Amino acid sequence: MTYIEITKEWVAENLYNGTLPVHAHSYTLLYVTGKGDELCACCALETLTPDEDGDLHEDPAKYVGTYDEGPVLYCENCNAEIVSSYGDPDEPKTAEAWAHQNIEGAESDTIECVWDDSELTIIVNDEEVKTTDYGSAPDSDSLRLSREIDAVNYWYAYGN
Ligand SMILES: [Zn+2]
Repeated sequence: MTYIEITKEWVAENLYNGTLPVHAHSYTLLYVTGKGDELCACCALETLTPDEDGDLHEDPAKYVGTYDEGPVLYCENCNAEIVSSYGDPDEPKTAEAWAHQNIEGAESDTIECVWDDSELTIIVNDEEVKTTDYGSAPDSDSLRLSREIDAVNYWYAYGN
């Protein structure tokens, strides 16, 4: 990722309806202060705007660039999520991989998630342990994975 320094001219060019852009050509933008704090577009603009007394923020947003790849970041000021354009390459791609990383005692379990339309069955070590009906089939891979992770997590925490 490359960052450019935020200048008055840049702000003037990019301010639209009183807000700074969150994306550039559908790539996520990240604002960074001189001290290295990561900010959302909204808070970045706040730090660039003098307060009621006309004083400037002590650590204003100084750089802007695209945030291409990596975990979800949180705005230092308001805690808003800043999601990278391509996601996190280290993020587990299956519920099994997720469980191996996050659930103590599950490291060597084989975990399978089988969908039948809206119904999810979890199979741990070749044994069907839990079936959940969500009422509708997941319409995206990320929703599918998040339901699988939730169900696996729940089963390990509370049993069937
Ligand atoms: Zn913010």
